[in-house]
Amino acid sequence: MPPVVRFAPSPTGFLHIGGVHTALFNWLFAHHEDGEFRLRIENTDTSREVAETVEQIQESLLWLGLDWDREVTFQLDRMEHCRKEAERLVAEGTAYEDEGAIRMRMPDEGVTAWDDLIRGRIEYPNEKLEDVVVVRADGRPTYNFASPVEDRLDSITHVLRGEDHISNTPKQIRILEALGAPPPEYGHLANILGEDGKKLSKRHGAISVEEFRRDGYLPGALVNFLALLGWSYDDKTTIMSRDELIERFTLERVGASPATFDYAKLDWLNGVYLRALSPEEYADTLLAYLREQGFEWDEGLVRAAAVLVQDKIAKLGDFPDFAGFLFGDVEVDVALLDGSASVLAEAEQELESLEPYTAETIEAGLRGLADRLELKPRAAFVPIRVAVTGSKVSPGLFESLELLGREKSVERIRNAKAAAA
Ligand code: GLU
Repeated sequence: MPPVVRFAPSPTGFLHIGGVHTALFNWLFAHHEDGEFRLRIENTDTSREVAETVEQIQESLLWLGLDWDREVTFQLDRMEHCRKEAERLVAEGTAYEDEGAIRMRMPDEGVTAWDDLIRGRIEYPNEKLEDVVVVRADGRPTYNFASPVEDRLDSITHVLRGEDHISNTPKQIRILEALGAPPPEYGHLANILGEDGKKLSKRHGAISVEEFRRDGYLPGALVNFLALLGWSYDDKTTIMSRDELIERFTLERVGASPATFDYAKLDWLNGVYLRALSPEEYADTLLAYLREQGFEWDEGLVRAAAVLVQDKIAKLGDFPDFAGFLFGDVEVDVALLDGSASVLAEAEQELESLEPYTAETIEAGLRGLADRLELKPRAAFVPIRVAVTGSKVSPGLFESLELLGREKSVERIRNAKAAAA
């Protein structure tokens, strides 16, 4: 029978990278096995915040390409069913009322055990299991009850979730047994840590899918990166397409020890994905990203600039800083122009007289200028670059000057010359 798995986020906030990692492993497993991946929202209220978060969770998953099978289900819609199941347990004597709440009896002796798909055999002494509250005094089923009840309703065969849930598993197994349902298989994924060994949090950098999207990471790169947190194909293959990941993903190669989120590796990987795009795809992607982020920059100029930056930036979010000088005024740090008034004066003249005004003629002209002033080209180009782009790091100087156009280039150099004098 093909497996049925689920991702069951609680809509308490944005989709955290740990959550999406769990979603991805479920999704890869389901696709590898030709099974089903379902989305269940573990909400217990219907406030506006919850509605927004639910929307956001779905949007983030879809952006990453982690689509689900069937309709999304909501825990809230199953409360009545949960209550009925609890009453049945009371009637059967496996649960009892306690100050208005319903508790389920847990065995006092022996162990509750399962063969964890990732960690091997786990045994839990029953004497440590308290009689678990299944319905609160206010009538709301608890997570520990609703979750296995829903797993049963949805015929979930494999529960892959974070290691925080290990201690819930014996209770959920006992609940399912009392309900007369065979428990699914359980696998507990390791936590993701920051580079300081602490659980990944805001202080390590971006942690919500939305933030990574805003920073200009490609969904394919992020998926590739996340797949390698706690799973590997062969210890050396890093770049894998979605189809390759699906084909190669098995639980046997998922590790039980915590994985470290390496931001530098993600940047590197994203750069690899960006460079692998055809120039057209790259320009389309960049343009779509800028529009999404609210930059209404001229399309033709963005496309022309795209060619200059494709090999140079690791994420699309670097573009506004790196190439923004093409689209708006720049602020120049005068300290960077110290002693360069004469170079700038020469450059101004050179650029004014070039015919035609192209990257090639600009290069020839500026190299000639460096020769005449007996300067190393690099030394001569720094103040020109700073004057025109506002920064010492920019796309290729000659191409940038061409794209910016003669008029603006000369004007910026003239202003910088005045400031440097
Ligand atoms: N709602 C739980 C969480 O967000 C999921 C628990 C489960 O997968 O059983 O951690």
